[in-house]
Amino acid sequence: MNINNTFKDMLKEKGYKLTTQRRAVLDVLQNHIGDHLTTEEIYQYVKLQCPEIGLATVYRTVQLLEELKIIDRLTFDDGCNRYELGTFGEDHHHHHLICDFCGQIFEVEEDLMDAIEIQVEKKYKFQVTNHKVKFYGICHQCHAKKHPTS
Ligand SMILES: [Zn+2]
Ligand SMILES: [Zn+2]
Ligand SMILES: [Zn+2]
Repeated sequence: MNINNTFKDMLKEKGYKLTTQRRAVLDVLQNHIGDHLTTEEIYQYVKLQCPEIGLATVYRTVQLLEELKIIDRLTFDDGCNRYELGTFGEDHHHHHLICDFCGQIFEVEEDLMDAIEIQVEKKYKFQVTNHKVKFYGICHQCHAKKHPTS
């Protein structure tokens, strides 16, 4: 799949063009999958590719791409908005593990929530269509620092 064509189609469908700035922002997010960049961080990377771009343009571009659901906004407890590529029409989003000590964010590939959804539907007569999950705790690196094996 040529991902730039996919973005182009998604934008075109909503009446927008894949401009250089939009492509640059999308390229950065695509090259940093799993990094959950803030707008400022996106700007730092985009600048390497388009030195003439301003922070305000990057803000506007990120906002537009979010509105169009091409990228997703994530908020963790550091108060920053962070972004990653969207789910391309699939409702389900991967889950996140957040380390309370170092603040690193890890992604969970497996969806482990099916059993819980079934229980919720049964018990509360609530038909679940989606969920977002964040787990908080101690990552393996911080755990190793706190509990050295030697
Ligand atoms: Zn993620
Ligand atoms: Zn950690
Ligand atoms: Zn899930």
